[in-house]
Amino acid sequence: MHRLVCIHCNTQYPPDAVIYTCSACGHLLTVEYDIDTISVSRSDLLSRPLSVWRYRELLPVDIPPVTLQEGGTPLYHLKRIGEEIGLKNLYAKHEGMNPTGSFKDRGMTLGVSMAIQLNMKMVACASTGNTSASLAAYAARAGIPSVVLLPAGKVAIGKVAQALMHGARVISINGNFDRALEMVHELCISHGIYLLNSVNPYRLEGQKTIGYEVIDQLGYVPDRIVLPVGNAGNISAVYKGLTEWLDLGWIDTIPKMTGIQAAGSAPVVRAIQGDLPSVVPDASPETVATAIRIGAPVNGEKALIAIRKTGGIAESVTDEEILSMQRDLARLEGIGVEPASAASVAGIKKLQEIGMIDSDEEIVCVVTGHLLKDPQTVIAQCSPPIEIDATLPALLSALQL
Ligand SMILES: *Cc1c(COP(=O)(O)O)cnc(C)c1O
Ligand SMILES: [Zn+2]
Repeated sequence: MHRLVCIHCNTQYPPDAVIYTCSACGHLLTVEYDIDTISVSRSDLLSRPLSVWRYRELLPVDIPPVTLQEGGTPLYHLKRIGEEIGLKNLYAKHEGMNPTGSFKDRGMTLGVSMAIQLNMKMVACASTGNTSASLAAYAARAGIPSVVLLPAGKVAIGKVAQALMHGARVISINGNFDRALEMVHELCISHGIYLLNSVNPYRLEGQKTIGYEVIDQLGYVPDRIVLPVGNAGNISAVYKGLTEWLDLGWIDTIPKMTGIQAAGSAPVVRAIQGDLPSVVPDASPETVATAIRIGAPVNGEKALIAIRKTGGIAESVTDEEILSMQRDLARLEGIGVEPASAASVAGIKKLQEIGMIDSDEEIVCVVTGHLLKDPQTVIAQCSPPIEIDATLPALLSALQL
């Protein structure tokens, strides 16, 4: 059994409430369980396949879930990049290996399952791209219609392609993500449509399994988990999940939650570094990493808690540093990610260079989305293929052999 609880005033709401923020005070909600009633053991869990649903006793879904087999993503040792920056124990959790190519699938298998459990007939979201791709696919899987609002001209082409192909009603607005979210929120409240942005606490329940999988894959708790931060849902989700394992006595420490933003879109970094009581929004965020081009992070309040309570860090990286790390991941490690994803590893490189990291630390960077999401940003960084006549001499000369 679970309930929704306001993180600010503690007002409680029953599990069948369709509600996104506290009606008493307007703050964010979180999902709470009676930890004493969770009877599954760690070894029970370890005998199941690695996936979001390995952890079903710690999730709020009571019906057969709407699933495309999300989670169970690879954890790679970054040997070459680690050597280059002086970190022996550097890992990447490749969330681009989810069904639609980003971690959003972990949230959507939960969110769309809850939509069905709550008897909702239509789902919607605003998105910088990946949320819409994922929502469209999971709504198709569930057999219900979906609506997605995108900031016109600011969504990577692969993501739009997915949303369109999976049959969502795709609307481009002449405004940024933050405005799209306000609009879809109003639409959902006024028309009884289920809102599946990360303000929806059930989405975060799915995403918290990233932290569980990391520990199950490593066999121990790492010192630090590093995530790119946009709306700050993911970093909040991973932290929240690990506090539950702490309460269950399954772990005795939580990694330092470390958030990385793009320099042109860094309100969480400013709040942490400036020791501000809350996140002050950015009116016109800008970065090549469109998935984290967010000025008013919805889950900012939760993220500040996650970072502060674990002794974590927030840091920003330039677009140049992001793209350079995207190339390093691709060329030195064989790991293809979209720009926002490279931010986590670029951030750890910067933190190491400025002396914020102990070189013995066990560090897991979450790389959040797949290379093919944003092919245009990739093509723009690479020289084009060499075109030749279809003869062997021409080939040898092109290869300078
Ligand atoms: C959504 C997304 C992010 C940002 O996650 P938040 O939970 O909004 O902080 C980062 N990278 C990619 C690829 C994403 O799709
Ligand atoms: Zn409240």
